[in-house]
Amino acid sequence: MAGEAIQAVRGMKDILPAQAGVWQRVEQTIQRIFAAYGYHEIRLPIVEKTELFKRTIGEETDIVAKEMYTFEDRNGDSLTLRPEGTAGCVRAAIENGLLYRAQHRVWYLGPMFRHERPQRGRYRQFHQAGVEAFGWSGPDIDIELIAMCARVFAELGLADLELQINSLASTEARAAYRAQLMDFLNEHIDKLDRDSQQRLHTNPLRVLDSKDPQTREVLALAPDLRDSWDEESAKHFSELRDGLTTLGIRHTVNTRLVRGLDYYNRTVFEWISPKLGAQGTVCAGGRYDGLVQQLGSKQTVPAAGFAIGLERLVELCEQTGLVNDHALDAYVIMGGAATRDLGLKVAEQLRNLGYTIEWHCGDEGMKSQFKKANKSGARLALVIGEDEFSNSTITIKPLRSERQQATVPIAELEKHFADFLGTS
Ligand code: ATP
Ligand code: MG
Repeated sequence: MAGEAIQAVRGMKDILPAQAGVWQRVEQTIQRIFAAYGYHEIRLPIVEKTELFKRTIGEETDIVAKEMYTFEDRNGDSLTLRPEGTAGCVRAAIENGLLYRAQHRVWYLGPMFRHERPQRGRYRQFHQAGVEAFGWSGPDIDIELIAMCARVFAELGLADLELQINSLASTEARAAYRAQLMDFLNEHIDKLDRDSQQRLHTNPLRVLDSKDPQTREVLALAPDLRDSWDEESAKHFSELRDGLTTLGIRHTVNTRLVRGLDYYNRTVFEWISPKLGAQGTVCAGGRYDGLVQQLGSKQTVPAAGFAIGLERLVELCEQTGLVNDHALDAYVIMGGAATRDLGLKVAEQLRNLGYTIEWHCGDEGMKSQFKKANKSGARLALVIGEDEFSNSTITIKPLRSERQQATVPIAELEKHFADFLGTS
C-alpha cells in the first residue's frame, strides 16, 4: 500500500534541471578562474571526525555549539557532516605530508551542512567553493585571493558587491583587545541582547557582529580593535590595501568585521551584496596562520583562504538573468518506422562531431514531434519524413530564427548543418 509522499529534509533543497544550468555556469566559471591563478582541486570526504571541527572551528562558535550534524557510526565513533571546508583541507594537507617545506594552492567545491533555521540564503545543506593557500605569510597572497574573488564576480556580471576588510592582528594583540572589550561590554551588559550577553563570556569578539539595534548603539562606543594592532599586522594590512588599490579593487575597512570562526588572524574580508536581504555575505575569508599547528603539525604554516556561498551567488546570478547557454543544437524528427534507423544514425554522426542532439524517442505524429522540438529549446529541427527518406535528403528547419528551412542531400548534411548553426 502506498504511504504518504516522502519529502526532502527541511533546509535541504533540490536543484532541479531548470536551475542546474546556472549552477553549472557558475561552477565552471569559478573552476576556470581558480585554475587561472594556479590553484589545484582537492576532493575531501564529506564526513570527518567530530573532534576535527571542535579543534579547528572552536567549541564556542555557533557552528560547533549548535549547528553541526553529529552522529555516532556503528562503531560508536563520533562523526560530523562537514560544516565548512577549511578544517578538512588542513587535516588532509597535514596527514598527506603536503606541508613539509612546500607551498600549496588548493580549491574545493561541494556541499556543507549546518543545522540552522532555514530561510532565504540560509539552508541546512548548502554549497561552498573555497580556496586555501598554504605557505605564504605576506600580504601578497591575501591580495591574490581577493583578486580571484573580484574576477569571479566580474565574470558573472555582478557589479555591486561590496568588499569589506579588516585585520584581527596577531593572537597576542587580539587577546589584549579581547580583555578590553570584555571589560567594556561587562559595564554595559544590561543593554546587550541575550545572545551577546552569553557571547560576552565565551566569544566576545562575536558581539561586534550583533545585528541588534540596542547592542549596536553600545558598540558604537566600544574600544576599536585598530588601536590594538601590533606593528607587523598594521604593516601587513597597509600593504594589502596598497595591492588592492593597484588592482583597482574598491574596498572599505570595517573594524567591526570579525569572523564567526576562531581560527582567523590578521586579514579578514567579506564580500556583501545589498540584493540578498538579511543574508548578504556571499564570500568570506581571511588568514589563519596558527591553524596548521593547532591541528598537530610540528611546523607553523601560514595559511589564508576564502569560501563563496554558492546558493547566494547563484541567486544573484539568477537576478541578473544569467543563463547557461547550452541549448541543444538540434532535435531529430522522423516520419515513421522506415526512417528511424536513418534518424538514429544521423544523430550519432552529428554527436561524433561534438554537436548536442536530441533524438525523438517513441512513435508520434510529426506535429507532436515538432511541439517537443520547440519545447526542447533546440536551435534546429532535423526532419526525415517519407519524402526526404525516398530522396536521400534531410530538412533543416531553424526553430529560433527567421531563416527559411532547406532540404539538402543527406550526403552534404554536415556542411549545411554547420552553416545553419553559424547563422541561426
Ligand atoms: P553567516 O554570518 O551568514 O552565518 P558564516 O560566517 O556562518 O555566515 P562562513 O562560515 O564564513 O559563514 O561561510 C562562508 C559563506 O558560506 C557565507 O558567507 C555564506 O555565503 C555561505 N553560507 C554559510 N552558511 C550558510 C548556510 N547555512 N546556507 C547558505 N549559505 C551559507
Ligand atoms: Mg553562520
